[in-house]
Amino acid sequence: MIVLLKNNTDKEQLENLINWLKDIGIESHLSKGAHSTILGLIGDTSVVDIDLIKALDIVQSVTRIQEPFKNANRKFHPDDTVVDIGGVKIGGGNFQIIAGPCSVESEEQLCSIAQSVKKSGAKLLRGGAFKPRTSPYSFQGLREEGIELLLKAKKMTGLKIVTEIMDASHLPLFEDVDVIQVGARNMQNFELLKDLGMTNKPILLKRGLANTLSELLMSAEYIMAGGNQNVILCERGIRTFETYTRNTLDISAVPLLRELTHLPIIVDPSHATGLSRLVKPLSLASTVAGADGLIIEVHNDPAHALCDGAQSLTPEAFDELAKMVHNIQPFSCR
Ligand code: PEP
Ligand code: MN
Repeated sequence: MIVLLKNNTDKEQLENLINWLKDIGIESHLSKGAHSTILGLIGDTSVVDIDLIKALDIVQSVTRIQEPFKNANRKFHPDDTVVDIGGVKIGGGNFQIIAGPCSVESEEQLCSIAQSVKKSGAKLLRGGAFKPRTSPYSFQGLREEGIELLLKAKKMTGLKIVTEIMDASHLPLFEDVDVIQVGARNMQNFELLKDLGMTNKPILLKRGLANTLSELLMSAEYIMAGGNQNVILCERGIRTFETYTRNTLDISAVPLLRELTHLPIIVDPSHATGLSRLVKPLSLASTVAGADGLIIEVHNDPAHALCDGAQSLTPEAFDELAKMVHNIQPFSCR
């Protein structure tokens, strides 16, 4: 971190700053030029509140050289992280498709979808039991019963299960869940992230609707700082001025995150677009852009789905998509 000081800096204030930095473990290196004076900070500057320094009278500007995330940073961990989900690996060249309904509706619905996505090669089944809905009057999920049905489908098919948590108090229900999803709306629920950091479960962390990549990585950092390194990032579209689609898929997030972090990166083309006919082209684009996997909504009867039918693929369409993704994988820029 580099602090550019104002001209004619008050000596006492400068000393106070240097001493305060020392107290939090940061060494400073002062360099006086003909026209400006610079303070170079040496040490783990992720602990420094950049806004606090910017607000000081003697400071002109502050530039971060090192990103404020450490655990998730590729600079400190050059090799790709491979998240092992009970033998199903993702990251470091291992590509996975997670497929299933937006929400668990019934045993018949879930088991039928689970069997068909398994036939198409998926190794992980998604399904929401706790649903974050915009309206409090919309279907909120089957909750505990939804998790029980997911466990039944897991037993029947051997698929690993992925489902969303909305409150840390529900954690005991997630004991046999293979991957805990943190949805877009909870990406910055820091208390929840801290609790998940104390588990050893793989966490699928979705990017918030209006969050930057740096904020996504800081949220991953929250989980990792607690000791849980099993984090999978998910680009699921962000809010823009475009209204044709539900969100706008930020495909540049894939190669950019690849540079910034060693964590696996997957893409959710279903929530990114809200339109089933766009899921195929965006899945292919994401695969070629270097994603480590996809999460796709599949429903046996999209027209009657209780949630997100418009963006759900039929099992037949998913089967065709899975084949195309498989064929295009050798062309990935990963
Ligand atoms: C979901 O995956 O079911 C979901 C609600 O997605 P998001 O959090 O990305 O909106
Ligand atoms: Mn959904």
